[in-house]
This record gives sequence, C-alpha cells and structure tokens, in this order.
Amino acid sequence: MEAKEKRSFIIRFIVAIVFISALLSTYFVRYEIENFLNGIFYPEVSSDVTNSELKMHFIDVGNADAIAIEMPNGEHMVIDSGDKNNESRTALINYLNNNFFEAGEERIIDYFVLTHSDADHSGGAEILFQTYEIEKCFRPNQYTPDEAEALGIVDDNQIVKTDVFKNFVKALNNENCEVEFFDVDSDIVEDDFSIDFIAPLEKSFSVKNNYSPVMILTYAGVKTMFTGDAEKEVEKAILNLYDDYTGEYAKSVIDIDILKVGHHGSTTSSTQDFIDAITPSYAVICTDEENNSYEHPSKTILNRLQSSGVKKIYRTDLNGNIIIGVASDGTISASLGTFTIGFKVEWYQLVIVVGGAGLVLIFTVGTKKKLKRRKK
Ligand SMILES: [Zn+2]
Repeated sequence: MEAKEKRSFIIRFIVAIVFISALLSTYFVRYEIENFLNGIFYPEVSSDVTNSELKMHFIDVGNADAIAIEMPNGEHMVIDSGDKNNESRTALINYLNNNFFEAGEERIIDYFVLTHSDADHSGGAEILFQTYEIEKCFRPNQYTPDEAEALGIVDDNQIVKTDVFKNFVKALNNENCEVEFFDVDSDIVEDDFSIDFIAPLEKSFSVKNNYSPVMILTYAGVKTMFTGDAEKEVEKAILNLYDDYTGEYAKSVIDIDILKVGHHGSTTSSTQDFIDAITPSYAVICTDEENNSYEHPSKTILNRLQSSGVKKIYRTDLNGNIIIGVASDGTISASLGTFTIGFKVEWYQLVIVVGGAGLVLIFTVGTKKKLKRRKK
C-alpha cells in the first residue's frame, strides 16, 4: 500500500468512526426522529401537542380500546387495556413505556378504568397490573363465578366466565389497590379538571357492552366523552335524563367537543339523536377495519358523523397512535401518525440505511477517479 493510499484510508477510517458515533448518538432523540419521519409518511400530522396540559393518547392496539390520559395535574388515567392477543398487549406496554410515561418519571397509573369484561378491552389488564403500580381501579358491575358465589349475586347477566376476565380479577386482587364498582356517583373532581360519570344508569344489562361507563372529562372548557362500547339503549337513557324539557338535567351538560365513538364505530351505537344532542367537533374511533369481521367502523356511522358537523374523524387504524391535546386556553390539537401495529419507521432501520449508505460513500468517494487515472 502506498503511503498516500494508507493516509487516505486512515482519514476515511476516522471519518467513518465520527460518522457512526454521531449517528448512534441520535439514539437519545430517537422518538423525536421517529415521530418526525412517520409524520412525513403520514402527513396528516396536524399540530403539536407539546403545549397541551391535557393529553389523551388513543393507542393503536388493533380492533380494541386502550386510552391513556395525562391529566393537567400530572395524574395518569388508563381506560381499557387493548386485546388479549400478544401483538396488542405488546403494543400497549411498548407505547406506555416509550410514549406515555416520561423518562425518569415514576410509572404509576392513578386510575385504571375497565369499561366492561369483553376481551378487546380487558385483554391487556393482567399485564398492565403486572407492569405498573395501579392506585385505583374502576371496574364494571360484573363478577367472576367465584365472586358471585361469595357475594351472593345470582343475576346471570352480571356473571362473566371468560378466562381473560378471571385473569383481570386475579391481577386486581394481587395489586391490592383501591377498587370501585363505578356508577354515576363515581365522579372525579379536581381543581382544574373533572370526570363526570353519566352512565351506567342501571345495575344489570343483558348486553355486556352496556356496562360501559359514559364519562365526560372537562378541562379548560373542553369536554371529551368516553363511551366504551355503550350501545343505543344507553344513549337513549342518557337522552331521556339530559333534556331541557322532560329530563332531570340540562341538555348542555352533554354538549361535548371530542367524542370517543362508541363500540369501535359500529351501528349498535352513535344514533342520529345522540350525535345531534352531543354535537361533537372531533371524533376518535379505536378500530382496525382490515382485521375484524364486524363492520367496525360502519360507513353509515362515518357518514353520519361527517354530515352532523364533525370536523375531523381520527381512526387508530388509519392514523396510528393518536394524541389529542387540550391547552390551558382550550386550544385543541392533535398528533397523529406513529404506529405501534403495522408499518412504521423505526430508529434502528434508519441507522442501518443511513449508516450503510454513509460508510459506502466514505470508503468509495474519490477512489474511482484514482483507478481511472492509473489506467491511463
Ligand atoms: Zn369493544
């Protein structure tokens, strides 16, 4: 090797080391980079939620619900836990670890709400209890056969025999946290936000979905309604109660801004009367249209929301993980386009592609010319 060539190789080698070190150091901002790139691939990213005091994360866990909320006072609420399959559970825990809890923050869930026993809501509850400290659990008025026997509950509608629900109850008992069977008196009232439980209005339902609570979270004048899988019977009961003329409460109480659409956008829920009464401006649907055999979401419901004045419909299957933020002045913003299920750009993929291309460049630039010159 000529002295000149040797020197050139050493320089290239040093440049390569500096380049690779610089590339690897982006590890510390990997989530920002991933979000930025996924934002380019999914250009619906509308705005930044960093200035929002309230952040509601609708996690992409398949045709299932998992919603994590950062309250303005720093408390954490998780509503439902995704599906029972491994992909959904992994997506939930990865998202909470990487995108919900901040680095160095204690991983405490102050409130966990299980809306009802179905596996697409309770599927990840066991692993959630095993992974995090949970302070308080709101559970539906549903019981395992063992619990029913111990408590003297004989109503079959309230007894759930599935393994996934039994596992939730087992994990809950191991956690030793505060437990509340939610009803309309379960409201949470803090200085700057409140959560109003407006359903369930009964103790027993023949349709399991109807055990779901309907909750209105109010912050900075912005109201978000969470519905679980509550169906039209529940919507009707709410409309009867919140009516300026015939009901017990004013209609304006259920006039909301953001709606978590009931039952994954199925026609069992979101009746025209209900949508007309609550007048949402934004709607979020937790679903996976390609991988479910029900029509979730239904075209009828999508059209109904659109023609009823909803400005924007967000969907976890199209928008990935959705964060809706509310700032202290009531400004609503959304961050979309990071995916936990299906395709998404990840940091390590970027390192392999950029690193590989960079190394090829560093060790080849200029060498071809030399070869040509030598041939002459
Ligand atoms: Zn469901």
